[in-house]
Amino acid sequence: MVRVQHEIQGIGMSEIAARYGTPFYVYDGENIKRHYQRLRKCLPECLEIFYSLKANPNISICALLKSLGARAEVSSLAELMCALKAGTDPRNIIFLGPGKRMEELQACLEHRIYAVVAESLQELELLDKICAERKSGMRVAIRINPSFEVKGARLMMGGRPRQFGIDQDQLEQASAFLASLKNISIIGFHTYMGTRILDEEEVAHNTLNILTMAENLARLLKIELEMVDIGGGLGVPYYDGETSIDPVALGERIAPHIQAFHERHPETRIIMELGRYLVAESGLFVARVLYTKESCGEHFVITDGGTNCHMAAVGIGSFVKRNFPIRNLSNTAGNEKLTCNITGPLCTPSDLLAKAVTIPKAEPGDLIGIENSGAYGPSASPVFFLSHGYPAEVMVLNGEVHLIRERDTYSGILDRMRLIPL
Ligand SMILES: *Cc1c(COP(=O)(O)O)cnc(C)c1O
Repeated sequence: MVRVQHEIQGIGMSEIAARYGTPFYVYDGENIKRHYQRLRKCLPECLEIFYSLKANPNISICALLKSLGARAEVSSLAELMCALKAGTDPRNIIFLGPGKRMEELQACLEHRIYAVVAESLQELELLDKICAERKSGMRVAIRINPSFEVKGARLMMGGRPRQFGIDQDQLEQASAFLASLKNISIIGFHTYMGTRILDEEEVAHNTLNILTMAENLARLLKIELEMVDIGGGLGVPYYDGETSIDPVALGERIAPHIQAFHERHPETRIIMELGRYLVAESGLFVARVLYTKESCGEHFVITDGGTNCHMAAVGIGSFVKRNFPIRNLSNTAGNEKLTCNITGPLCTPSDLLAKAVTIPKAEPGDLIGIENSGAYGPSASPVFFLSHGYPAEVMVLNGEVHLIRERDTYSGILDRMRLIPL
């Protein structure tokens, strides 16, 4: 796919910085469109794409993806309301997560979303009770923690002890319990194996396993399969040596499994949930260099936006610090290169956006850009550390710059606090 450049649709990053200040995230709306449409074309038609808002919960991102045909997978009340406000048809919303609160379950019922994905036997019982009290039905899917091991995921969500879903063998023993739930309709199964899968064959392998498991469980538990959610977890390359998923190859590998299942169950909705894959590569994080200095022989570039805005760049989950693609957006000529550590404003040595990267020499005032930053950005970062707050978020669409989230201000942050009389 086209990489995000220091100009997006002809708009320079310095222009956006001048208008909205730094640090900020900028999303290339046209790139999101191209990327989505390319994937859509490659996947079997009967496979529905649900956008996992968790990856980037901004309402304009959600609305853009919705306008392209994406449905929504949400995990909190705010995400649910965001998807609805973005115009998503409730029949195209599912709600999942291991710790749903009562008011969230009630909201699912109230807004008549397509399905709640239950993650424990207790949750099933609670849902049944809520429906009994309200004299209303509800479609419920069950998230399975499968007995088989997932292939290819960088972060495992199933196939081992996890707080997610119900163990496959526990569910297999639970047919009497399920039959006792008279007020909800169990409509199918969900499995999310893990994230950052970069191998098409492994996605296909997982898909086949999940579809087969769903069929077997439905038979065993006498459930009419109205939906199967095969998860997703498609990755994007962040580090050297990683390569993108090829949507054509992905489509070719999974189509036979999806089609065969679809022929056996023509009425069953088949859902794929994608977060990162839909947005990551269309986002750029931009921070301004405040100072440069040397310490014990190493060069440091200190910016106004560190891991408080972009925790993912730290590379959680790996023992060796690996760098996201990072560039000096102001000095693209790059005559003089320098190996440096790029840090932020936090008072901790772990505030390290990049370690020992070689980029064109940075000066105070330069803009530093981290690519592939459209997913798990500020919403997955400790934005309140040192009370800096949320950075600005901007989308470029059809050649125009739109502010899609205002930067937090100190007064906004202070307003949330209460000064008690002493
Ligand atoms: C986080 C999550 C997703 C989205 O994962 P990505 O790797 O961003 O695509 C989808 N489904 C579930 C259940 C999740 O927890």
